[in-house]
Amino acid sequence: MSRSLDDIRADLAGCRRCVLSETRTNLVFGVGNPHAEVMFIGEAPGRQEDLGAEPFIGAAGQYLNTLLALAGLKREEIYIANVLKCRPPENRDPRPEEIEVCTPFLREQVKAIAPEILVTLGNFATRFILKTDRGITGLRGQVHITGRFSVLPIFHPAAAIYDRNKGPIMEDDFRLLGRLITKRREERAAREGRIQS
Ligand code: SF4
Repeated sequence: MSRSLDDIRADLAGCRRCVLSETRTNLVFGVGNPHAEVMFIGEAPGRQEDLGAEPFIGAAGQYLNTLLALAGLKREEIYIANVLKCRPPENRDPRPEEIEVCTPFLREQVKAIAPEILVTLGNFATRFILKTDRGITGLRGQVHITGRFSVLPIFHPAAAIYDRNKGPIMEDDFRLLGRLITKRREERAAREGRIQS
């Protein structure tokens, strides 16, 4: 039995389960359609997100919005959350003990939303969802199946802003996401058709 997003949010309010609580401005829970077909998972809040209490509102968020259009998606259709809900100082990498204590809440968010497709942005989200040590470079560009989810690893938009060579790769991957959405919808329609006939 999954908890509602509101219950999970209430449980996290004022969270002091790891050291990031000492330096954050705001806890960044997640935002978007609570019944999203596609859920995006990033790494951790950056400076803008820490100040605004919302994921992907800085430059990476602007870039993400333009990429979503290539997949035929609008921002309000998706849900976005991060592996960590609080900003690591100076945007350092998440530490294993922080991931361990924070990710049960991400797992609960995924259960509550029950998306069909998970898009993992960057190494930390990809490794967590696919339970792998492999890096994003070798995993992107392919759809991975884990449990009932189709998982599409994509570079983190912030990394692509710093390395413009990644731009065309990002665009290809969002077009692939668009095709994956179409395929999953067709499969669902066929299943529902079989049930009705
Ligand atoms: S990062 Fe997660 S576990 Fe750590 S204080 Fe924030 S909400 Fe709590």
